[in-house]
Amino acid sequence: MTLTDRDRAVAAAVAQGLVGEAEPVAGLLDVAGIRRSAGELRAAFDEFAAPGTPVLHAFAVKAASLVPVLRLLAQEGLGCEVASPGELRLARAAGVPVARTVLDSPAKTPAELREALALGIAVNADNAEELARLDGLMASAPSAAPIGLRVNPQIGGGSIGAMSTATDTSKFGVALRDEGARDWVVRAFLARPWLTRLHAHVGSQGMPLELMASGVRTLFDLAEEINGRAGRRQIDTLDIGGGLPVNFASDATTPTYREYAALLHKTVPGLFSGRYGLVTEFGRSLLAKHGTVLARVEYAKSAGGRPIAVTHAGAQIATRTVFVPRAWPIRVAAYDAEGRPRTGEPVAQDIAGPCCFAGDLVAEDRPLPLLRAGDHAALLDTGAYYFSTHFAYNSLPRPGIYGYAVAPDGAVRFGTVRSPQTLEELTAESGGAHAEALGGLGTS
Ligand SMILES: *Cc1c(COP(=O)(O)O)cnc(C)c1O
Repeated sequence: MTLTDRDRAVAAAVAQGLVGEAEPVAGLLDVAGIRRSAGELRAAFDEFAAPGTPVLHAFAVKAASLVPVLRLLAQEGLGCEVASPGELRLARAAGVPVARTVLDSPAKTPAELREALALGIAVNADNAEELARLDGLMASAPSAAPIGLRVNPQIGGGSIGAMSTATDTSKFGVALRDEGARDWVVRAFLARPWLTRLHAHVGSQGMPLELMASGVRTLFDLAEEINGRAGRRQIDTLDIGGGLPVNFASDATTPTYREYAALLHKTVPGLFSGRYGLVTEFGRSLLAKHGTVLARVEYAKSAGGRPIAVTHAGAQIATRTVFVPRAWPIRVAAYDAEGRPRTGEPVAQDIAGPCCFAGDLVAEDRPLPLLRAGDHAALLDTGAYYFSTHFAYNSLPRPGIYGYAVAPDGAVRFGTVRSPQTLEELTAESGGAHAEALGGLGTS
């Protein structure tokens, strides 16, 4: 049996105690894989864009809000798309230049907007009220920060409602097909010479590529109309968002960035003409395939004839999979106590997590070599939106995250991305400093 890099990393993580009795769950990141995906993204757009077209690939920080990951991506030429003061802070801590940072969010406060304008970070306004706020800020302290407007092309949703940003009633952006909206957008640009970008993020998981491309087509056509009416190239940059879906069913990377760029080129040839600078905001597709959650099997029991592996990875780390399993199925791989791939006849079993509610299952009735106590369950394709998006249920601590690289001779080296959260830290964030705060209240 040939071992994959992931297999080698799992065995090394067990051997080195990154996962064990003391730390029963950890996240592993394939550094070479992340670099490869970043390179594929750059190559895909470089292939179709006219020479000299400015292209910024801003990684959607929420997909992996980990400073060393942002730093690695920055070394690969990427920037950051941030949507909160916390995400902006992480991007700054990673050393991502302000010129490669984009602020989106449907709920930016005046302080956030003021800071972004002062730093010169690109801002995409979400709605009319936010534009009015920006009017005031620009009047009092003019800024050279690139400012855009997010629109919702309202082209419809994909197969996952909660992931569909371009439905008729989505909360994001200016709903372009609403009565009078398109005219309003055109006038909003004509009245504001500093408004130079158009933004749409039509995603994400579960969305057909053709629908995504048609959303970008709408964005492009609107930019052409506005520039025509302005009689100048007022809009100089199109931010086409992210949203490329990920294949969670096998090790294959599909669709590829090249397929998407080729489809965009066919659907919206002018996008790559060099008349517009481009910004992308991919998250999931850059990281998902390169992450593995590795969890110890604490007990292997059976109920009603169904074998159940009780592991340390459940809703706290695979939140979406546990709560919406149909939309977010993930593959599980079985490893033995030493971290070697477990072989044997597949047996339908439940892979359960440690949380105290019955639905805490990451896989139900899943055929796998029978897991035993002390074995390990690996949750595959979990590099995006899993181990960086912790759910604090049951006060389970955030696990350690480790990047790995496998040398040609099979040796595995790890770099700590995030240390496991300690119980002291957990107590502190749970009000540990305020233990006495309630005792004196409410006694008349
Ligand atoms: C979440 C988000 C992204 C990234 O989406 P993915 O599906 O992870 O590629 C990009 N842009 C905006 C505005 C987002 O909210």
